Order: sequence, then structure tokens, then C-alpha cells
Amino acid sequence: MKDNIEVFPGDEVAEEEEYLASDGTFASDGKIYASQIGVLELDDDECVARVVSPNPPNILKTGDIVYAVVADVRNTMATADVVAKEGTRRGLGGETYATIHVSKISQGYTDDVSKELRKGDYIRARVTGTSPSLQLTTKDDHLGVIRSLCGTCKTELVKKGKGLYCPDCERSFQRKLADDYGDVKL
Ligand SMILES: [Zn+2]
Repeated sequence: MKDNIEVFPGDEVAEEEEYLASDGTFASDGKIYASQIGVLELDDDECVARVVSPNPPNILKTGDIVYAVVADVRNTMATADVVAKEGTRRGLGGETYATIHVSKISQGYTDDVSKELRKGDYIRARVTGTSPSLQLTTKDDHLGVIRSLCGTCKTELVKKGKGLYCPDCERSFQRKLADDYGDVKL
């Protein structure tokens, strides 16, 4: 068998007499097969056969900066759907449903999530934990809301002072804004 070739799931890649099945491979009836698309690695030092995926799923880690859309706002937390990870265009694998606890929203004291985030807001956030579920924080100058539409008329809200303003409804709104609100290319 040749090394460093692209293989597909089900391709026979080695004999079990010579190699052990490892990442991306499985053994059956004395032979080793690929279980994913990737490049075959026959490791003669460890005697293992691996198939290394060129594009491993983008699983979020603690510390990652992400973009998310606020899905719901409750008393003590907001929920959000993570749509992208900063610095990569690759899609996300794994969990993308996240929670933001009221204490993790802003640097100041907040007792009301709806004063800081609203459903539909686009936010930049940092992952603070991934187990048992994805948790985010917006507690940093560069984190928070980066784009928001008026809940009444859907006009894009503009930054005014420390908050947001709808030029059509002529109303002001409070939010936890990122320092570059309105200036982010999505
Ligand atoms: Zn409006």
C-alpha cells in the first residue's frame, strides 16, 4: 500500500498484520479501511494506519472569538446561535447553540439581560466553556453587539452616545455594544 494518497471511506488502506487501525480508519476481517476522506498515513514507527482529514470539523474551543445571533433573552441569560468563528471561513462542526449568563454580558452590573442584548442582535463573543454546553461572554470592549435592527421598523440602528438609535422611530435603545459597532464587515 502506498502512503500519502487520498483515500475515501471504505477504501482498503492496509493489512491488519502490519498496522493497527487508528484515527480515520477501522479494521475488518484482517484488513484496514478508511472511515473518512483524507490522506493516508502509514506510520511505521507506531505501526498504525491513519487517515488525516484536510479539513477537520471546526469544533469551538474555550478562548475562541465567535460571531453569533441572539436567539432568545430570558431573565438570567441569553441564548445565541454561533454562526462563525473569527479568522476562518470554514463551517462549524459540533455544538453551535450557546448561552450567555447575565453576569457575563457587560463589565458593569446588569440585572436585566434585555437592557444589553435583544433577539436578532449580531454579537461578537468569546467562548468561556464548551462543556456541558457552549457558553459565551461579551464582557470586553471589543465584544458585544456589532449590528442590530430596530424591533419595530427593522431599520439598522445607529450608534448614539453609549447606546443605539433608530432614525425612523426616533427612539433610543440600550445595548452592550462592541467598540466597533456599525463598522464591522460581515
Ligand atoms: Zn425603528
